[in-house]
Amino acid sequence: MSTNRREFLKTASMAAFAGISASLMMGTSASGAGESLVPHTPEFTLPPLPYAYDSLEPHIDKLTMEIHHTKHHQAYVTNLNKALSETTLHADSLEAILSKVSGLSAAIRNNGGGHWNHSFFWKLMKPNGGGAPAGKVAEAIYQAFGGFADFQKQFNEAAMKRFGSGWAWLLVNGDGKLQIASTPNQDNPLMDVSDTKGKPVMGIDVWEHAYYLKYQNKRADYVAAWWNLINWDQVAANLG
Ligand code: MN
Repeated sequence: MSTNRREFLKTASMAAFAGISASLMMGTSASGAGESLVPHTPEFTLPPLPYAYDSLEPHIDKLTMEIHHTKHHQAYVTNLNKALSETTLHADSLEAILSKVSGLSAAIRNNGGGHWNHSFFWKLMKPNGGGAPAGKVAEAIYQAFGGFADFQKQFNEAAMKRFGSGWAWLLVNGDGKLQIASTPNQDNPLMDVSDTKGKPVMGIDVWEHAYYLKYQNKRADYVAAWWNLINWDQVAANLG
């Protein structure tokens, strides 16, 4: 039984015991507010990719994309839901969970991060993407790094220096400034445990599962190829 349903039944039975109508507790009162008063944690699902598995070729191969999405990302979703079902946690969103992940289990940290990071990552890429950014993204990068080439160099360094598995990020930090960072495993800057906190704008998965089939140990080649896929419209949307 899911946390949602279990919590609802618990709340409903408590309401019945207290002589309060369960429908009122659910917010379906005569006022018609329609807003649930029962706190909940959503069941998470695997988002579909916004493009075909083979459409990022030759930069990222079809089999890598298929395994990465249907096996790795699906496992994060499945294991996140399982870990949440074993708690009494109430949260409205994954972001809310990540913001207080220091007090939660390693399973929620790893799989919650995995689900958020991959959902973010798929949208950042598109067939025939890449090139240099324009408009407000170009301007923001110029302001923060002095130019696109310098930004790319620093971002690539963050991706290359991450030892083992993790991510490199471009984020807006607490001062409203663009910053490059990297996080281990499936951590990200939305987590209260992260050394660098903020709102992610770009991120690259540098786990070997993201590139090993095509690039083996050559992470630098994968990172270089990835720039040909960037969806700058999505970056602009993330920048806000
Ligand atoms: Mn991955």
